[in-house]
Amino acid sequence: MSDIPEEDTLNAISREAKAVGKLSGENLTRLYELFGQRFTKALDALKEGRVKKYVFKPSGRIVWIVVGRERDYLIMPEAEFCTCDDFYFRVLDKKVHMCYHLLTQKLAQNLGWFETIEDDDQCYNMLMKEWKKPITEK
Ligand SMILES: [Zn+2]
Repeated sequence: MSDIPEEDTLNAISREAKAVGKLSGENLTRLYELFGQRFTKALDALKEGRVKKYVFKPSGRIVWIVVGRERDYLIMPEAEFCTCDDFYFRVLDKKVHMCYHLLTQKLAQNLGWFETIEDDDQCYNMLMKEWKKPITEK
């Protein structure tokens, strides 16, 4: 159990959805009640296949990416970290527990709805540099 109740619900729903291979109407409603707009955006990203799991060879390092409209977002599920503004300003401020990218990644991983991309370790640093670009002021 985590400290975050919404995450426990998310995990429970994900397990159920994985068992049957889809999200039921009831669970869609529950997720929407819990996450609101963040869930709508997460669902769009899942449907549009915007979740990528990069596996670097031969090290086996794994990096998750959610492709956004303007840039790609780097997700570190273990650290509950995302490179977006939403995460930076609101999650760190405890206003929201999870940005929609983290939510998307969790759903994608639990449901197996993601694309796996294998890449060479030599590309790792270059790609990480791109993904970790500092957040620009708006
Ligand atoms: Zn994010």
